[in-house]
Amino acid sequence: MPELAEVEYNRKQWDPGLGQSLSKIRTHSKARIYRNIAATAIQRGLKGRSFVASHAHGKQMLFEFSNGAWMGLHLGMTGKLHTRPVGSKIEKHDHLVLDLEHTQLVFSDYRMFGKLTLDVTEDGGAPEWWQALPPQPQDKGFTKIRHLTFARRFPKTPIKTLLLDQRGYPGVGNWMADEICWRAQIAPQSPSGTLSDEQIHLIWKLTRQVSRDAIRVISTKWETPPKSWLFTHRWKDGGICPRRVCGGAELERADLRGRTTCWCPVCQFC
Ligand SMILES: [Zn+2]
Repeated sequence: MPELAEVEYNRKQWDPGLGQSLSKIRTHSKARIYRNIAATAIQRGLKGRSFVASHAHGKQMLFEFSNGAWMGLHLGMTGKLHTRPVGSKIEKHDHLVLDLEHTQLVFSDYRMFGKLTLDVTEDGGAPEWWQALPPQPQDKGFTKIRHLTFARRFPKTPIKTLLLDQRGYPGVGNWMADEICWRAQIAPQSPSGTLSDEQIHLIWKLTRQVSRDAIRVISTKWETPPKSWLFTHRWKDGGICPRRVCGGAELERADLRGRTTCWCPVCQFC
């Protein structure tokens, strides 16, 4: 599922269309992505507008059109954004195709867990739901005290599960949460209440670090992260811990509250 950096990468894919007016809006009206808003409402709401700006926040995106129209977009599991020249053939899994003057913006989603919303605001400002989103780990508002307070509210929750809570850590997903626990050398199963203030502080610092690293490597260049990250070793059974001090222990993988979790049983012991 796309996490913070993959979402930011996708957001930028529509940039070639900025400043252009919409000429045609095509929707695959029966697609499940229109479960929150009818395809016809998207058609009516965007008609005659131009594409002004795009924003990403955690796993959410917001596309701004002229005269206060804001289209929210969540990629779900398999959603992808891309552009093509106007007049290109529509593919099977394209569920929203916006023809601009020179560029075609496409939202394709094979499994259709993605979703759309549309708000038209009177003052032209971003919709309230967007303004109310909690700070992302890379934002100034993601303070040590905010994180400590949040973690202490859920003392029985495993630290990895806590990091997946979008109210506290918007944009952090499964691989990032594993990476943070691994860098902190804390077992993902540890209930957050068993961690010291120093360990909670370390998790805060590494949440910011992993977010910044992910944005730099993935959303800027779409590169595979280096072999020194857990990321490149966590996807299959039999992976080896890239941290040398444990002597290359075999990584463990198990289900933790419904999410496949990977950790080093030697490095991550508490
Ligand atoms: Zn290790």
